[in-house]
Amino acid sequence: MSRYLIDRIKALPNVTIYTGAEVIALEADPSGALSAATFRGLDSGNVNTYTMRHLFLFIGADPNGDWLAKRVAVDGKGFVMTGADFAPTDEPIGRAPLSLETSVAGVFAIGDVRAGSTKRVGAAIGEGAAVVAQIHAALANQGV
Ligand SMILES: Cc1cc2nc3c(=O)[nH]c(=O)nc-3n(C[C@H](O)[C@H](O)[C@H](O)COP(=O)(O)OP(=O)(O)OC[C@H]3O[C@@H](n4cnc5c(N)ncnc54)[C@H](O)[C@@H]3O)c2cc1C
Repeated sequence: MSRYLIDRIKALPNVTIYTGAEVIALEADPSGALSAATFRGLDSGNVNTYTMRHLFLFIGADPNGDWLAKRVAVDGKGFVMTGADFAPTDEPIGRAPLSLETSVAGVFAIGDVRAGSTKRVGAAIGEGAAVVAQIHAALANQGV
């Protein structure tokens, strides 16, 4: 989440922030609307239930790349490294990688899953457009 959004939410007088906790249960009132949520502290294991009417699920911040990590170099958070991001010792590809190319020659990463990318729709689209030229360059390099 953008820093300015975090700061604005923190400054709201009617918002209490609980960090380091996961939602483990939701309760509904007789009409079916949300009435409470139960959180469990990730470190403490403490379980607390809070009355609330609204819940915003902020999902999508973790890359779904566990399976990729066995093949291409990823950073400490599992984002795929491209270009100069990965050390030459990580599965060297034998030539300088293109900026959107992973540690495996001919395999490219774009969008949110790419380490260092701007996590925005426009950025992902732009990288999608840019990678086409790099794929052509990689194929040309192989004489295809
Ligand atoms: C809550 C939230 C709010 C956001 N708000 C904004 C906003 O206001 N403005 C903005 O510009 N950006 C916003 N973003 C960011 C924006 O959604 C992303 O930057 C953008 O969607 C990235 O596009 P992508 O194609 O890289 O990844 P995604 O859109 O995440 O697409 C990846 C796709 O790959 C699929 N996938 C994953 N694993 C596999 C697999 N193993 N096999 C096959 N398919 C797989 C997924 O199901 C998904 O469909 C927001 C993101 C979140 C989570």
